[in-house]
Amino acid sequence: MTCEPAHVLVVEDEPHIAVGLRFNLEAEGYRVTVAGTGEEALERWDRQRADLVVLDVMLPGIDGVEVCRRIRRDDPRVPVLMLTARSEAEDRVAGLASGADDYLTKPFHLDELLLRIRGMLRRSAWYRPERRSGDPYRFGDNQVFLDQHRAVTPRGEVALTDLEARTLRVFFEREGRVLSRAELLETVWHLPADAETRTLDNFVVRLRRYFEPDPARPVHFLTVRGRGYRFQAGNGQG
Ligand code: CA
Repeated sequence: MTCEPAHVLVVEDEPHIAVGLRFNLEAEGYRVTVAGTGEEALERWDRQRADLVVLDVMLPGIDGVEVCRRIRRDDPRVPVLMLTARSEAEDRVAGLASGADDYLTKPFHLDELLLRIRGMLRRSAWYRPERRSGDPYRFGDNQVFLDQHRAVTPRGEVALTDLEARTLRVFFEREGRVLSRAELLETVWHLPADAETRTLDNFVVRLRRYFEPDPARPVHFLTVRGRGYRFQAGNGQG
């Protein structure tokens, strides 16, 4: 595959971490831009989009959560990997709620970071626009192209984030079966099973707004009281 090297925007205010990230990402063949503050990150982003963003949450000035929110407003699809401190569980939740696709806690293993980045870029339709194949997953009046992070719904076309696509994939794979919140949090969100579930509920509300004929009366993304969720492809009784 001979494409342009993927462009990674690294937002990190700790110089030694930033330098290490640049060195190792460049060694992997990526093109790297480093920003030391949230303001600088948004400036860089405005000047030139990246294929992936590595984003520290704790930044002086505009913090990582806000940076992520603004990047998401521009581009629903660019993969965003957040870096959080181990003690900042609520930051992780806020980060994912603001549109990040995944997170790593500091101190992280470099191999793990590179693995995540590789996986996120692989899944990103951005990185492989040639891959316009694949039948959509159909339910109701919706067609979902998971590989392209794209869906066609009666309300229009939706660009899916990596996290949305991953969540949908699990729902589709377990069609008709109950998915517990803990399982979703652990397998898709990489959050501890006892993490705050409000965020997950809000996330499902967003999926309903995309795909349900009447989001207030879901027929596809059903809440199973006290247990979790069940996805039903067919219209009707559920
Ligand atoms: Ca920091």
